[in-house]
Amino acid sequence: MFSSSYLDRNILCVDALNVEELPKGCKTRLLVGLVHDGLGRAMRIPVIAVRGARPGPVFGITAALHGNELNGIPVVHRLIDSISPETLRGTLVAVPVLNIPGLVRHEREFRDSTDLNHIMPGVADGNESQVYAYRLTSRVVGAFNYLADLHTASFGRINTLYVRADLDEPTTARMAMLQRPTIILHNPPRDHTLRGWASAEGAPAITIEIGDPHVFQPKKVRRTLSGLRALLTQMKMLPRRAHPTPPPPVLCEASRWIYTDRGGLLRVNPELGELVEEGALVAQQFDIFGDLVREYRAPYAGVVIGKSVDPVSPTGARIIHLGRLATPGRFPHAESHAPSEDGMAGDELAPMEPETPGRDG
Ligand SMILES: [Zn+2]
Repeated sequence: MFSSSYLDRNILCVDALNVEELPKGCKTRLLVGLVHDGLGRAMRIPVIAVRGARPGPVFGITAALHGNELNGIPVVHRLIDSISPETLRGTLVAVPVLNIPGLVRHEREFRDSTDLNHIMPGVADGNESQVYAYRLTSRVVGAFNYLADLHTASFGRINTLYVRADLDEPTTARMAMLQRPTIILHNPPRDHTLRGWASAEGAPAITIEIGDPHVFQPKKVRRTLSGLRALLTQMKMLPRRAHPTPPPPVLCEASRWIYTDRGGLLRVNPELGELVEEGALVAQQFDIFGDLVREYRAPYAGVVIGKSVDPVSPTGARIIHLGRLATPGRFPHAESHAPSEDGMAGDELAPMEPETPGRDG
């Protein structure tokens, strides 16, 4: 007998996420139909929703929009496990994988090699990836009032735990600070990312970059989880309880990747999170005979947000992702909200009114 899968477990299959139809005070597993494959089989996206007994905002947490970025998956599983629907205010919606074809193929992109995080919100009558993206946004993510989109570094690179957020916007600055990552990078959302689309639609959104691709990293998973719990507590969705408070994040006002300008085997010196001085030696490149061919130096003082771990580096390969430290006072919305004695920020993050309609298309 061929063993059964979750598809045999009578999980409710729906055409779209409709929060108002979810039963209150419990956890619901759904499969939201998106597209069909060439055999006519439905591809349905797994959604775990917890609708609290009390009304409140819809907070969405999404993972694996890039199919090889996996650390967000245990974060959403553990977050859902830790929540009691009876005490939750509002609705928490977790999507453990947004890019199903990418996940099963161990690849960043969608089946047609498209990066889904460059084509949001998709096209209703477009090609394969465009329609998939359109239905993701219109059938699932459009129901959210807030979004945390969980990513990691890409193949051949590693990341600190850092948050991308628009620090000039008060709500996203607060979300980023409450998340308490190692580094926060001021990064106004660009068009066609999921974060950019959600923000433009009125749902404040942050991207959490959780370490490295292709792996589960328990420490970074735990720290992301406790940050999300602190954020949901501050929004009054979860009941207040003591949280360990990690050290304050390093704020960066901008960043850029430093690239190689010739080919060879690359050795990258600084550790993740390390502060480097302007002119510091950050990498050396050797030819296949082992002879040093190039040294790379930091163009400005900053912090190492991410770095290459792939030694085979042609001309134009990435070396380090160098954050430029924010000048004090540059981001008042972020800096003025250091946690107080009880581990929480001073002011409340204004909760959304429960009557606020979803944005289902
Ligand atoms: Zn990603």
